[in-house]
Formats: sequence, C-alpha cells, structure tokens
Amino acid sequence: MDFDYDSSNIFARILRGEIPAKVVFENEHALAFHDVRPQAPVHLLVIPKGPYMSLDHFAAEATAVEQAGFLSAVAAVCGMEELGQGFRAIANTRTHGGQEVPHFHVHILGGRPLGPMLSQA
Ligand code: 5GP
Repeated sequence: MDFDYDSSNIFARILRGEIPAKVVFENEHALAFHDVRPQAPVHLLVIPKGPYMSLDHFAAEATAVEQAGFLSAVAAVCGMEELGQGFRAIANTRTHGGQEVPHFHVHILGGRPLGPMLSQA
C-alpha cells in the first residue's frame, strides 16, 4: 500500500497552530482535542503529530517511539473520570471506513451507553 499524506488537511492545520482546537492533552508525539461536532457527551480525537494518513499507515511506518507516544496520549485521555464506565475507540479509514479527515485519528466516545457498534449492516 502506498500512503500519500496531504498536509493541507484540517488536523495538520491544527498541529501547525493555524486553526484553534480545544486541546485536552499533548505530548511530544500526539495531541488530543474535542471533536467540533460531538456525537456523545465525551467525543475526543487523538492524533499523532507525524504525517500519517490512517491507522494502517501509522502502524506500518511510524517509529516505535511515535507509536508509544500516541498510545500514551490515548491512555491519558481514556483515564478521564467521565470514561470510567467505558468508551468506544473508532479509527475510520479511507472511503469505505467513512474517513473525512486524511490525518490518522482515533475517536474516543463515551459518557453514555453507546448502543450497538453499527446502526446498519
Ligand atoms: P472522520 O470522519 O475523518 O473519522 O472524522 C473526522 C472528525 O473530525 C469528525 O468527527 C469531525 O466532526 C471532526 N472535525 C472536522 N473538522 C474539525 C475541526 O476543524 N476541528 C475539530 N476539533 N474537529 C473537526
């Protein structure tokens, strides 16, 4: 698989400080912030700072240090009290996955029971 990262995407612009975000956690390799259109009482996005377009791109090409930094940010976010009863992590990927922003991100949703994983087959 060839991965072709486009740095004009909105999350790259957030990382460059060109547009604001409500940041909840940051470390050297990752940033976590509120989704602008929340679909649950808690809806956060965790993104790596490196130029990776999707989960499979990140898994294939990010360094071990970048991957550890990203997972450390996920752990920090998922430790929030509001997520103590559970959460859902989603990584929409490319067209069939419904990915809108081509910079790898994991949605962390919670704060209420989330129901079945998919609403339609
Ligand atoms: P995707 O469909 O790519 O998995 O999800 C992209 C998410 O990014 C959507 O849930 C959308 O609401 C969110 N989003 C799009 N533009 C912005 C933005 O400018 N700021 C923030 N915080 N979230 C955004």
